Amino acid sequence: MELSYILNEYGEDREQYFRAVAPPIIQSSNFAFATVEEMRKAFEDEYSTWLYSRGLNPTVEILRKKLAALDGAEDCLVFNSGAAAIFAAVLANVKSGDHIVSVRNPYTWARKMFDEILPRFNVTTTYVDGTSMLAFEQATQLNTRVYYLETPNSWTYELQNLKAVARLAKQHSIITICDNSYCTPVYQKPVEMGIDLSLQSATKYIGGHSDTVAGVLSGSSKMITRIFNSEYMNIGSGIQPFNAWLLIRGLRTLPMRLERCTQTTRTVIDYLKQHKRVEKVIFPFEEDFPQYELAKQQMQGACGLLTFVIRATKVVTIEKFCNSLKHILMAVSWGGYESLIIPRCSGMPVDAFDAGNVEHRMMRLYCGLEDAHYIIADLEQAFVQIEGLE
Ligand SMILES: *Cc1c(COP(=O)(O)O)cnc(C)c1O
Repeated sequence: MELSYILNEYGEDREQYFRAVAPPIIQSSNFAFATVEEMRKAFEDEYSTWLYSRGLNPTVEILRKKLAALDGAEDCLVFNSGAAAIFAAVLANVKSGDHIVSVRNPYTWARKMFDEILPRFNVTTTYVDGTSMLAFEQATQLNTRVYYLETPNSWTYELQNLKAVARLAKQHSIITICDNSYCTPVYQKPVEMGIDLSLQSATKYIGGHSDTVAGVLSGSSKMITRIFNSEYMNIGSGIQPFNAWLLIRGLRTLPMRLERCTQTTRTVIDYLKQHKRVEKVIFPFEEDFPQYELAKQQMQGACGLLTFVIRATKVVTIEKFCNSLKHILMAVSWGGYESLIIPRCSGMPVDAFDAGNVEHRMMRLYCGLEDAHYIIADLEQAFVQIEGLE
């Protein structure tokens, strides 16, 4: 299916809503039946019809069709957050006594689930260096049920070879789950590379305007139907119609926003690389990135998120740099219209800062939709503020 068709037309049916060009927000919690027989059918299979909006909703349905097609998957579910999509995907595939192999730096709330919630139900997790196939093989046990992947991850952008991990998993009947938030399905399609379940935080590029929290989980019809009838309905964290409508709106401009971010990021990286206060830039599509070849093979793009290591011997220097920024906002998340920065040192007590540790001097930068020169001018004036300071 062509990308333009998916984003502009697929899943929409104007005959159903007065030929309105923009689809309606069906803000209704429940749906009425004309006959007892129809109602009985709906109770027998809630996945087959409109009954109650915790399950299916027509506005959400339009979004689901588009997102599944974008992922190259048979079906998908849209959640109220990326974290809920992660939770449902993992919960649906483990039982007491099972074991998970996860990449070592998964998204914070995935890690908290592995470390704090799942052990209460006797599900254990081993963290591995996801860049190494040998690490997956060595960590696999007889009771391993899930490989949990995130490629690239944020901050350091380590990749997993998706085809190779999927092949290994199939040999052991292990379910593979991949967090694809960095690339979006426009720039990477894990399901087409053999991954069972692909998920992403739609809060980032899909929404694209920093006004909605949502998550997508895509996979086979069989798997998605099973998750709908159990975890999805039970967790009760499906996306609401208005938020689904915002995501449909975000999808219309997704490819062009990604292209714009890609170009801007290239220009900003070139600026950062020549700056004397920048020790290093980490970005999967940089030629000196350790997994550059793999990145080029399995990703069609890398977009707006990068990390640079600032030269500084004191934490106050980094703080002064960040506090001096006038346009780039200090905030979490990415994928919206606005450029964002997070200094790694904001996530640790001030006295834990060690300038000798490269990680402590990392800055995660998201290049938004502003003009590249506007972002660069802001960085430049902040660098001027710390001139002469070590
Ligand atoms: C933001 C994010 C999530 C969580 O998504 P929410 O929509 O915030 O719940 C999961 N994985 C990654 C990589 C993220 O960046």
